Amino acid sequence: MTRSSPYLLATRSGGKLRELEPLFAGAGIEVITLERAGIAESPDESGIEVFSSFEENALAKARYFHALCGLPTLADDSGLEVHALGGDPGVRSKRWSGRADLSGVALDEANNAGLLLALRGQRSRRARYVCVAALAGTRGELTRRGEVEGEILEEPRGAGGFGYDPLFFAAELEKTFGEASLQEKERVSHRGRAFRELLRAMRDG
Ligand code: IMP
Repeated sequence: MTRSSPYLLATRSGGKLRELEPLFAGAGIEVITLERAGIAESPDESGIEVFSSFEENALAKARYFHALCGLPTLADDSGLEVHALGGDPGVRSKRWSGRADLSGVALDEANNAGLLLALRGQRSRRARYVCVAALAGTRGELTRRGEVEGEILEEPRGAGGFGYDPLFFAAELEKTFGEASLQEKERVSHRGRAFRELLRAMRDG
């Protein structure tokens, strides 16, 4: 499925863009952001990720933006699964705090505070990040999943990454994603793994 025409990279998340743009540049694949494609944010977008699996949500996002612009479209759905919380917040990670009035760093802080509260007194702090990367285009669709194991600390460490990263201690790095460099995070992260697998499948396709 490799081609010379560009792909639309369909995310509104600055944190995801900072991770994904270098990954695609390194693979020699041209990607265009929603902003560069002139696709302004629409209220309809809040109705895209309504499913209970990362796979369905990632594909729904890729299909929605592919239908808008016609370019083969890359998207992801990702989240944090916490063992002691029965896999929550999962696909609801972004809006877990219930604070529809917040966005960006303020929303991340509310989610992190809610996570620490929910885990107070819990013995297990095991967690994993999950990401499903999706491609939708006229030549077909693909999804690939990536995961990374870790645990939730009692206090944040580091100011890098985004979202739950300062609380997520990655076993493979022996540091939080907030403390990791972009390259370190990309090497072991759920998103790095999912998109590297997707790129492999695109090349083989
Ligand atoms: P999505 O945009 O629906 O995929 O939601 C992703 C949400 O999951 C983010 O807003 C974060 O709350 C959380 N999340 C997913 N991946 C990461 C990550 O790499 N770092 C921090 N938080 C993440």
